[in-house]
Amino acid sequence: MGRICVFCGSSRGASPEYARAAREMGGLLVAMGLGLVYGGASGGLMGVVADAVLAEGGEVIGVLPKVLESKETPHPGVTTLHRVGSMHERKALMADLADGFIALPGGLGTLEEFFEVLTWGQLGMHAKPCGLLNVGGYYNRLMAFLDHAQAEQFVREGHRSLLLVADTPTALLGKFAGFAAPEVERVLDVRSI
Ligand code: AMP
Repeated sequence: MGRICVFCGSSRGASPEYARAAREMGGLLVAMGLGLVYGGASGGLMGVVADAVLAEGGEVIGVLPKVLESKETPHPGVTTLHRVGSMHERKALMADLADGFIALPGGLGTLEEFFEVLTWGQLGMHAKPCGLLNVGGYYNRLMAFLDHAQAEQFVREGHRSLLLVADTPTALLGKFAGFAAPEVERVLDVRSI
């Protein structure tokens, strides 16, 4: 693995625990020799994780759609900032650049980005690990919902197991190191969507 894509909130959330975890994640990426791919903004948890990687001398690649620049201030210090034409281009480029995907706590944007890339794994469009960092139990209810979806036979067990979850960055990246994507029929390539 060379780079990890981190999706996370454009806000910092209600508890300082979230920013603490984002800083820890950034520091650990650098310690493990991994670069960061992220949304390219300077605010919220996104800015916190980017700042943490940069403070340790790591590589940060931001991917910001032009349409978002009036809403999200581009981070001035990133190693590389790709300005792209649309949200779809952003997600495709992030997926190309990264070797694994992590969602820290976040809102609708974080969930949308993370679940899209997880479903690309489900379709066999990539074989890269996808994990939730469950800081302070933030994602417990989402996990409970996915248990329900599996019990109701809308999510297959093999697909559910594509979603890695851990409470700490160290535990999550440990799971990434041992991840082997299950054999699934490859239906599409990311570039064809
Ligand atoms: P949020 O988790 O709602 O704070 O959003 C986190 C970030 O996700 C936002 O700042 C946007 O950069 C990004 N985002 C929101 N919606 C989308 C989308 N449909 N596609 C790609 N990125 C998005």
